[in-house]
Amino acid sequence: MLALGIIALLLLVGQVLTSHQLADMDSTSRTINLAGRQRMLYLAISRAALLVAHGPDGQSQAQGEQQLAEALEPWQRVHRGLLRGDRALGLWGKNSPRAARLLAELEPARQKVLAAAQALLAERRGRRDPARLAALAAAIPAQGEKYLLEMERLVAVYDQEAKQRVEDLRRLEWLLTGLTLLALVLVGLFIFRPMARRIRRDMAELEAAARAFEQLSLTDGLTGLANRRALDRGLAEEWRRAWRQETDLSLLMLDIDHFKNYNDRHGHQEGDRVLKAVAQVLKNSLRRPGDLAARYGGEEMAALLVGADLAGAKALAEEVRQRVEELGMEHGASPVAEVLTVSLGVASARPRPGSRPLELVRAADQVLYQAKAEGRNRVVAQVLDLEAEPGNNMGAAIMPAQKPGETAP
Ligand code: GH3
Ligand code: MG
Ligand code: MG
Repeated sequence: MLALGIIALLLLVGQVLTSHQLADMDSTSRTINLAGRQRMLYLAISRAALLVAHGPDGQSQAQGEQQLAEALEPWQRVHRGLLRGDRALGLWGKNSPRAARLLAELEPARQKVLAAAQALLAERRGRRDPARLAALAAAIPAQGEKYLLEMERLVAVYDQEAKQRVEDLRRLEWLLTGLTLLALVLVGLFIFRPMARRIRRDMAELEAAARAFEQLSLTDGLTGLANRRALDRGLAEEWRRAWRQETDLSLLMLDIDHFKNYNDRHGHQEGDRVLKAVAQVLKNSLRRPGDLAARYGGEEMAALLVGADLAGAKALAEEVRQRVEELGMEHGASPVAEVLTVSLGVASARPRPGSRPLELVRAADQVLYQAKAEGRNRVVAQVLDLEAEPGNNMGAAIMPAQKPGETAP
C-alpha cells in the first residue's frame, strides 16, 4: 500500500510540476510574441509621427495623428504588462533578473520616445508650428535606434529562457520517470518477491498438510496399519498390475482367536495392546515393497502379498501365526492355548480379464472361517482358480490347496 502510495505521489508531483512548467512556458511565449509586437508598434509610431510632421496635406497629417494615438495606447499598455504583468494579455510579470535589467535599460529611450510622441500630439492640437512638429517627429527615430536594439536583446533573452524551460521540463520528466521506475523495482523486490515466496511456502505447507491428511485418512488410528479403505484401494491397484504382468497376488486374512474372551478377562485396554502387538508382527513379516498390512475391521487384519503364489503366501501366514504364538501373551480364557493365538486364511490368484478383486477377499474369508471351524490357531490356504469360468468369475472355482488343518500345530 505504502509503495503504491509513493508511486501515486510521484506521478502526482510530476503532473503538478509539469503543468506548472507548461503554464510558465505559455506565459514566456506570449511575452516573446508581445515583445516582438512592441517593435512593430514602435515602427508604426515613428511612421505616424513623420506623417503628422511632414504629411503632404492636412488630411494625411490628421490621419497620422490618429495612427499615432492608436499605436501609443497598446504600446504603453504592453510595456506596463511586461514590467508588472497583465493577466488579460497573459503576462504574469515574472521577469528574470536579466529581462528585468534589459527592461530597465531601455526605459530612458522609451521615455524619450513617449515624451516626444505626446508632445507631438499636443503641438498638433495647439499651435501647429511646423518647425517644432518636425523637430519632435525627428526625436522619435533618433531614440528609436537604441530602443529597437534593447528590444531585440530582450526578445533574445526571453527566447533563451524559454529554451531553458524546455530543457528543464525534459530533465524533470526523465527524473520522475526514473524515480517511478525505481519505486516499481523496489515494490517488486521488497513486496511482490517476499509475497510470492510466502505464497509458495504456504502452498507447500498446504500440500504437505493435504498429503498428511490423505495419509491419515488411509491409516488405522490404533495399530498404525493401513485401514480398510487403503486396503481396498491397494487391492484394486495390485489386482490390475498382476493382471497386466501376469503374476500371482495373494491375500492373507487374520483373526485373533477368542478375542472377545480376552477383552472380557483383561479389559479393553489390554485388548488394544494385543491388537497393536499382532499388527506389528503382521507388518514385520512382510518382505516386498508393494506388500500391504491392513486392519480389516475389529480384530481382523489382512495382508496383501504382491507376486506371492500360494506356497509363498502360506509360508508367510504360518510364520505370522507362529510369531504371535511366540509372543507368549497369556490369554487365560481360550480353549485353544494358554497364550494368545490367531487363525489365518490365505487365498492366491492370478487375475484374469473380467475378474474382480472382491473374489480374492471372499476366498480368503472363506478359508479363514474354515481355519476357525477346524480348531483355530492354524492356516488354511486355497487357490482361487479364475480360469475355470472366464468372463464370469462370480462363481469361480475354489480349490483347496491342502487338507484342512494341515498346518495346525
Ligand atoms: P473367534 O475366535 O471366533 O474370532 O472369537 P472372537 O471372540 O475373537 O470373535 P468375536 O467376533 O465374537 O469377537 C471379536 C471381538 O473383538 C469383539 C470386540 O470386543 C473385539 N474388538 C473389536 N475391535 C476391538 C478394538 O478395537 N479393541 C479391542 N480391545 N477389542 C476389539
Ligand atoms: Mg472376528
Ligand atoms: Mg476373533
